[in-house]
Amino acid sequence: MHLTQLLHRSVQQFPDDPAVVYQDRTRTFREVADRVARFASALRTLGVATGDRVAMYSLNSDRYIEYYYAVPWAGGVLNPVNIRWSPAEIAYSLRDSRTTVLLVDDMFAGSVPAIRAQYPELETVIHCGDGPTPEGMLNYEVLLAHAEPVADARRTSDDLAGVFYTGGTTGEPKGVMLSHRNLLTSAMGASATGYFMTGRRPRLLHTAPMFHLADFACWVSGSLAGGTHVVIPAFDPKVLLDAVERHQVTDVLLVPTMIQLLVDDPATAQRDLSSVEFIGYGASVISEAVLGRAMRTFPNADFGQAYGMTEVSPIATLLSPDDHRDPSLRRAAGRAAPHAEVRVVDPDDNEVPRGTVGEIVISGEHVMLGYWEKPAETAQALRGGWMHTGDGGYMDERGYIYVVDRIKDMIITGGENVYSAEVENVLAKHPAIAACAVIGVPDEQWGERVHAVVVPAEGATVTAEELREFAKQHVAGYKAPRSVEVVAALPMSGAGKVLKRELRAKYR
Ligand code: ATP
Ligand code: MG
Repeated sequence: MHLTQLLHRSVQQFPDDPAVVYQDRTRTFREVADRVARFASALRTLGVATGDRVAMYSLNSDRYIEYYYAVPWAGGVLNPVNIRWSPAEIAYSLRDSRTTVLLVDDMFAGSVPAIRAQYPELETVIHCGDGPTPEGMLNYEVLLAHAEPVADARRTSDDLAGVFYTGGTTGEPKGVMLSHRNLLTSAMGASATGYFMTGRRPRLLHTAPMFHLADFACWVSGSLAGGTHVVIPAFDPKVLLDAVERHQVTDVLLVPTMIQLLVDDPATAQRDLSSVEFIGYGASVISEAVLGRAMRTFPNADFGQAYGMTEVSPIATLLSPDDHRDPSLRRAAGRAAPHAEVRVVDPDDNEVPRGTVGEIVISGEHVMLGYWEKPAETAQALRGGWMHTGDGGYMDERGYIYVVDRIKDMIITGGENVYSAEVENVLAKHPAIAACAVIGVPDEQWGERVHAVVVPAEGATVTAEELREFAKQHVAGYKAPRSVEVVAALPMSGAGKVLKRELRAKYR
C-alpha cells in the first residue's frame, strides 16, 4: 500500500481523463504520470536518496500534486512547508528535518535568500513557478524536459511518506511522521462511509492550503476515487466561486472560517452553485449558526464533517450527510470512522461514562509513527497505545463525539468548567456578530473569567452588557462572558484556525 499506486491505477483505468486543472492548464493522468516519473528522475539525479526529505514552499498549484506523487516515486519523504512561517521558522524546520532540497513557487521565491542565510546547508532550490527563475535556482520545467522517466520506487506500507507539521494552533508546530499505511488507512476509511461518495469520481476543489494535512487527505481520497483535482492558489470567495462555475466542481473541502466568509459574502447567492454535490469540512468547531447558513446556501449539497488531526492522518470521526439531516446532531463531530477506535477518558486513562467530558483518545492503523525526532513527546502522546488528542469532548449513547474545547483552552471560573465552543456557539447566533472567540483571562475574583473577543457584522455594533444578556438566555450565567472586546479580525493560523494563545497573550 503506497501513495503512488493511486496514480498507476488511474492511468490504467482512464489515462486520458483530466487529473489536475489549474487556471488554464489541464493535465491528464497519463501526462501527470509522465511528468512525475521525470521529476522523480531529476530528484534522484540531484542526489535525493531513499528516505530523504524534500520540501515544498508554495501556494496551491497543479505542481503541488506532482510533488505529492514525485517525491515518494523517487523514494523520498514529503515535507510541505507552512506558508505562514517566517524565513527563520522555515530555516528552523528544514534544519530540524535535515532537508536539503526545496521547491519554491513565484510567490515565495523572494524569501529564499533569507532562508539560505539562516540555513546554508540548503543545497538545491527548484523554482516551480511560471515567472522567471531567480539566480541560484534550478527550473522545474527545464529539469522535467531533460530527465528520462524513472521507475517508481514503490514504497511499502510502513515506509515514511511524509513529515507533516501540525497547525501550530497551541504552540510550536510539531513534525508528524506518517507512513503510507497511515495516510491510506484514513482515506480509505473516509471513502468507505461514502464520505467521498464511493463509486463517484468527484471534481474536487482544493482551496485549503495544500501544505496542511486536511487538504492532503482530500487529495488522497479524491485520487482513490479517480477524481479530477481543481486547484486554486489560495482561498478567496470570488476565485473559489469562479472555479466552481467554470469547472463544474462537485466536491469542496472547506474549514469553518472559509464557510463563514463564503456564506456572508452577498456575491455567493448570485452564483450558480448547482454543480456542488458535497461539502466536506472540519479542522475546527463549526457553530450551528454558520452551518445552518451554509446548508441554506447550498441546498442541493450533502454535508460531511470530519474530526481529526495531523497525528491521525487526519481522520478519526465522521458526521455523515444523513447525520446532517438530524437537527439533534448539529453540534456533533460524528462517530468513529471505520478505521478508527475512539474513546473518551479521564486523566488516568479510564473511559468515562457517556455524556461526561474527558480527553478524546484514538487508536488504529492511521495513528502516526511518532513526532519527528521527539521521542519523549511521542511516548507521552501515544501512551498506552492511544493517541492522546488534547481535545476535550464527550460521547453520547449512540457513539457520537462532541468536541467541546482544547483541554489547554478550557476555562475554570469560580470553580466551574466552561467550554469555549458552547459559548461561541451561542454568541454566533447573535445577528450583530460575524465571528467570535471565547477565552479565559486572569481575574482576581473568579480565578479566570469568561472573555469574548468579537468581530461585529458589517455596520453592526454590540455592547458587553447586551451580549452577556443574550448569552444568559441560552446558557448558565457563569458561562456568559463577563467582558467583551471588539476587534476588526481574529488572529488566524495558516490553516484558518483562531490563535487563542495570541488573544490571551496580552492578559498574561
Ligand atoms: P498544534 O497541534 O500545532 O497546536 P493543531 O492541533 O491545530 O495545531 P492540526 O493537527 O491541524 O493542528 O489540527 C487538529 C486539531 O483541530 C484537533 O486536535 C482539534 O482540536 C481541531 N479539530 C479538527 N477537526 C475538528 C472538528 N471537526 N471539530 C472540532 N475541532 C476540530
Ligand atoms: Mg494539535
